Amino acid sequence: MKVEIIKCLQDNYSYIIIDEKYNHACVVDPSEAEPIINFVESKNIKLKFVLNTHHHYDHVGGNNDLKKKYKVKIVGYKNDKKRIPNIDILLENNEIWKSENFQAKIIHIPGHTSGHICFYFIKEKIAFTGDTLFSLGCGRIFEGTYEEMYNSLNKLKKLPSDTKIYCGHEYTLQNSLFCSKYDKNNKNLEKKILQIKNKIEKNLPTIPSTLREELTCNIFLRAKNLKDFSKLRDLKDNF
Ligand code: ZN
Ligand code: FE
Repeated sequence: MKVEIIKCLQDNYSYIIIDEKYNHACVVDPSEAEPIINFVESKNIKLKFVLNTHHHYDHVGGNNDLKKKYKVKIVGYKNDKKRIPNIDILLENNEIWKSENFQAKIIHIPGHTSGHICFYFIKEKIAFTGDTLFSLGCGRIFEGTYEEMYNSLNKLKKLPSDTKIYCGHEYTLQNSLFCSKYDKNNKNLEKKILQIKNKIEKNLPTIPSTLREELTCNIFLRAKNLKDFSKLRDLKDNF
C-alpha cells in the first residue's frame, strides 16, 4: 500500500491509497474531483472507493464527479447517510471495512461533526484523521461538546505510537505557533518545528506525522484533563 498526497483547494489534503498489486485505489476526502482525476489518469490506476471522514464540503466536494467518471463506491458513517453525497456503503463504529486488500477499522470520533470517523488501516498502521486530529492541533468543535472531542482524541491516542497520521489540512505551521506559546521548553516540539519549517521552505507537505510525535508535541494531546483541554480549545479559537 502506498499513500499519495494530493493538494486540494486552499490547504486541504486528499489522499490516494494505492494497492500496488492490482493498481486499485481509494481516495480519502476528495475536496474536489479535478486533482484526483489528473493523478489517476497520469498513473493509470483504477479508482474504486471514496472514503469520507465527515460531510463537510471540503472533504466530499469531489464525490459526485468521481462517481460519475469512475463508478466508485462511496464509503462513510451510517448516521451521515443524508449528508454525504452519493454514499453507498454505510459504516458503524468499530467495524472493519474490507474490500480486496483494503482493510480499515472505523473509529467514530465525534466533536468536529457528530458523524466524524477515522479510517485506521491496521496492517499498515495508517490513520486518516480528517478534521479531528491535525498535526500539532485538533479540529474546531462545531457539532459536539468539549467532552466528545476530548474522548475522541483519547481514542486516537490509544493507537500504536508508530501510527502514521494523515489529516485533512496543512495547518501544521500555524498550529505550531500556538503549541510553542503555551508549551514553552518542550524540546521535542522545538525539534519538530525545525523539521516543519524545513519542509514548508521546500514546499513539501508536513504530513504524515506520527502518533508518537503528536503525543510528545501536540498540546491538545498533552492536556491532562477535560478542563485543561477545554481551556486550550477556547484559547485556540481566538488565537
Ligand atoms: Zn471539517
Ligand atoms: Fe476541513
